[in-house]
Amino acid sequence: MKIVLPANVTKIISMLESHGHEAYIVGGCVRDSVRGVVPKDWDITTSATPHEVVEIFSHTVETGIKHGTVTVIINRLHYEVTTYRIDGEYLDSRRPQDVIFTSNIYEDLSRRDFTMNAIAYNPACGFADPYEGQKDIAREIIRCVGNPTDRFKEDALRMLRAVRFAGQLGFTLEKETHNAIISQSANLVNISAERIREEIVKLLTSPYIEAVKLLETTDLLPYILIDQPFGGDTNKIISQLEYCPDSEPLRLALFLSWSGDNCEKLLRTLRFDNKTISEVARYVNCLHTYIPLFRYEIKKYLRHMPQAHFENLLTLQSIVKPYDAKRLDAMRRESRDIQEKGECYTLKDLSVNGIDLAEVGIPPGKAIGDKLEELLDAVMRDPALNADLHSLL
Ligand code: ATP
Ligand code: MG
Repeated sequence: MKIVLPANVTKIISMLESHGHEAYIVGGCVRDSVRGVVPKDWDITTSATPHEVVEIFSHTVETGIKHGTVTVIINRLHYEVTTYRIDGEYLDSRRPQDVIFTSNIYEDLSRRDFTMNAIAYNPACGFADPYEGQKDIAREIIRCVGNPTDRFKEDALRMLRAVRFAGQLGFTLEKETHNAIISQSANLVNISAERIREEIVKLLTSPYIEAVKLLETTDLLPYILIDQPFGGDTNKIISQLEYCPDSEPLRLALFLSWSGDNCEKLLRTLRFDNKTISEVARYVNCLHTYIPLFRYEIKKYLRHMPQAHFENLLTLQSIVKPYDAKRLDAMRRESRDIQEKGECYTLKDLSVNGIDLAEVGIPPGKAIGDKLEELLDAVMRDPALNADLHSLL
């Protein structure tokens, strides 16, 4: 098999070679090419040291020079060029103590996580595939390079990467790799919440969503939901996720649908941003709430959430209550109609404000607030009133 490289990548490889170095494409781009999928980015690995890489190319950024990575920019496109390296000793299931550069591609491949990610390719030399990664790709298997228990002891994040790749690729975890995760799952406590979050989001938005089950079968789930016992039914959640658009907040809401009032705390522990936290927590809180099919009731929701979020809530409700889908569709149409007709459901859009009320003698403070609420409620029931509010005061 031959991989067709983009012209810029061929150029980077040949420039490195013309200066006496080796260079290969490696990792995700080789894995994807072997699967017949166009890679989203192309990573290059080379025997040249980072300083040599910087010398050879006119536009570079020293992205992670300590770890050997230099970004080479050609025609405004970015390519990561990383020096062959072996990882120093791992002391905390997290990161190697130091990074040692090497001039041997096979040493570099030996530090990589899975056989499918430990393949390098060079247009002239072909594949360097010491762990039979191409075979595992053909068999759709995720297998650790070397002894899985040791590899997960070195870096616990790899366990979550394995599950995430299962979701993205639809591959199966090879038995020993799967069992090693069970034995090492507790080491996930050494991994930062941010890195766990990134993997969870990738998993939840991936196409082979049944891989979420692996979080349970590998015992990783308790170390993701720190301090919160899992209270859901994974089979049910997966069947719901299958009907859910692949949007992060929607999928998170279904994943955490069982968590109720604890949802916010869970998302906070995983260091989600405030915007995501409030959006997802609102979906979870309203997931089973019955919304009557009356414009007035719909406006009460629109007052507190953007139209798009209200529609998302309807999407989620129709997934958890499929028998209600028709009614929820009608609700969606009503909410759009409310918008199109520009009906008022916020104090801001009311035709009178606090100053108007003060002018007719309503005392400032609570009385004005209460009166505005009263008027808004009346306008939400009868939109035509908004035009006449002044005359009614
Ligand atoms: P993606 O499509 O998600 O980018 P990828 O395979 O390119 O997939 P990256 O996280 O970008 O994944 O990593 C690039 C390569 O670096 C991987 O293919 C793998 O060879 C290696 N790698 C990344 N993380 C680890 C890790 N924790 N342990 C060992 N090797 C790793
Ligand atoms: Mg990548």
